[in-house]
Amino acid sequence: MKVLFKNARILTMLDQNIIEGDLLVIDTRIAYIGKDSSVFAPFDRIVECNGNLLMPGLKNAHAHSAMVFLKNKPTNVNLQDWLFKYVFPREAKLIPTDIYHLNKVAYLEYVRLGITACFDHYFFPLEGAKAAEEFGMRTLLLGTPDPGKVLIENLVRNYHYFNDKKDGLVTYTVGFHAEYTADVALLEDTKKTISKIKCPFYTHISETKKEVEECFERHQMTPLKFLYEEGLFQNGGGGFHCIHLTDEEVQICKDNHLNIISCPGSNLYLGSGVAPLAKYLANGINVSLGTDGPASNESLSMFREMQLAASENQTIPAFEILKMATVNAAHAMNMLNADVLAVGKYADIILYDLSHINSKESNDIINSIVYKGNDNNVKLTMINGKILYENGRYYLNESVDKINEMAEEISRRIENEL
Ligand SMILES: [Zn+2]
Repeated sequence: MKVLFKNARILTMLDQNIIEGDLLVIDTRIAYIGKDSSVFAPFDRIVECNGNLLMPGLKNAHAHSAMVFLKNKPTNVNLQDWLFKYVFPREAKLIPTDIYHLNKVAYLEYVRLGITACFDHYFFPLEGAKAAEEFGMRTLLLGTPDPGKVLIENLVRNYHYFNDKKDGLVTYTVGFHAEYTADVALLEDTKKTISKIKCPFYTHISETKKEVEECFERHQMTPLKFLYEEGLFQNGGGGFHCIHLTDEEVQICKDNHLNIISCPGSNLYLGSGVAPLAKYLANGINVSLGTDGPASNESLSMFREMQLAASENQTIPAFEILKMATVNAAHAMNMLNADVLAVGKYADIILYDLSHINSKESNDIINSIVYKGNDNNVKLTMINGKILYENGRYYLNESVDKINEMAEEISRRIENEL
């Protein structure tokens, strides 16, 4: 399949320059970027870009996609109360196939909002994998041991099943929810798993001050330091949120190339605080952005995450913020072939409407995307060489109505069972 994007402005994200020309996709990869695409004719499809912007798809580096059924959080509830009184009782009612159906609802949002990959952390990851492969969403899944129930051997098998596949859409690594929900058995099983596989480890870290204080009471160490001393980061990885890190923990991240995945929308929504992203960047740490679960954000828009990150960290240039939502996120997820637009990379691309931007200067365009980026400006989303969304229409192997109906049915069932 040969798809030619013609007459585009192209922001490869290799640097800040925007070039004019065509971009050719053959099957799943970018095959050509330049002005002489006619030598590759004929094409199966020509997309006339009319001077609009082709750029790498946005990447949601921290998501609990299936939590779409938990939207509409009660107001004025702090994180701990919300989790223990509202979220956990409902999550206890989930059955594996719910994840399969609910993930697809989030994917509909993702492709409409220009998101071409997500790092999904939730129950029953194999159901998430099935949904992602069917839908066509590039996904990194986080598997978690469950002492006595999910054996280490299962995680090792899953890891190899997904990661050894050539050009698979789904990859897999290991982590758990957080230090404060991990008992000794889970810590031990996780340590054994990552030692066996030699994979990076990810978890929620220092999202609230309370979490940090309670961890210190338990272990006389703050969470990231504790997990580091336990050996969980022996193969790298990183933390979600990381709002309240100590200077020593920032140094640990720097020295061990750990990734910090920040979720400004969720942090604001739950009143968790503001992560000092400029300080992390100044230490050379790979910082990326994620929406967190739709229930703790009420939005799955990476444009909103960029706007918040930029507003909260005004010394960071817009291009660096855009990198957090694209290149850096791809690197945090080890999706090294889906980071920039270049020949040989996966065709994970969005077409962004520039008709409302008067300037042709790359600086102005990047500033506009970061500070005023609008979900409605996403004209087209392609993942792995396949156009899944274009001008308000989905191009899927299944019915959008059916996906939404299944999710509504699941929500009704769970509320009835409470
Ligand atoms: Zn989260």
